[in-house]
Amino acid sequence: MVLFSGGQDSTVCLVWALQRFAHVETIGFQYGQRHAVELECRTNVLEQLRKQFPKWGKRLSEDHLLDLSLLGQISDTALTDERAIEMNDGGLPNTFVPGRNLLFLTFAGTVAYRRGLNVLVGGMCETDFSGYPDCRDNTLKALQVAISLGLDAPMTIETPLMWFDKAHTWRLTETMGGEPLVELVAEYTHSCYVGDRSRRHEWGYGCGLCPACDLRRDGYNRWVHS
Ligand code: ZN
Repeated sequence: MVLFSGGQDSTVCLVWALQRFAHVETIGFQYGQRHAVELECRTNVLEQLRKQFPKWGKRLSEDHLLDLSLLGQISDTALTDERAIEMNDGGLPNTFVPGRNLLFLTFAGTVAYRRGLNVLVGGMCETDFSGYPDCRDNTLKALQVAISLGLDAPMTIETPLMWFDKAHTWRLTETMGGEPLVELVAEYTHSCYVGDRSRRHEWGYGCGLCPACDLRRDGYNRWVHS
């Protein structure tokens, strides 16, 4: 079960899973995010993977989209409100929905259990991460134990990008699917926090100014020039 948002990292994780597992399902969450355009990208990425990479398409099964609009009620952040993205006193960008990944993985675990799946794959990353404590490796290891105990069924959490920076993620993309996959990621995935798809750069669409665009562009440039 791959946590799949339609962003760059989760798309790379999805391909990673498709290379390893015979049966792969995807799950996404709708929570009033400002970059709701990501949700449209989900559909497009799945469609393009099926079309351009039939060997992976055969392994790609159901897609689940959960309504977590309550997250908008319990958080006060720039991802869900019309506010400027800035750093708060704790050094975190105010795009942070506290504990978001704990909730996402727990919901994913519940759905996976019901679908008879026992691996959760997520794009969390401790290297380039924006300081989100729920992206930390130890957070996810603890959660893996909690979910496995709470479901009384082993549930492995795989985070293939945990120790990668964004340049490494682009490199992995090329290793797994060559130029066609790099182009698919640039054209169809979305990372920009403010949901800007009016500007196309060589690294993809985005405002070019927000923290997500910064990471994506810098990683791309470091990869291209490495
Ligand atoms: Zn942006």
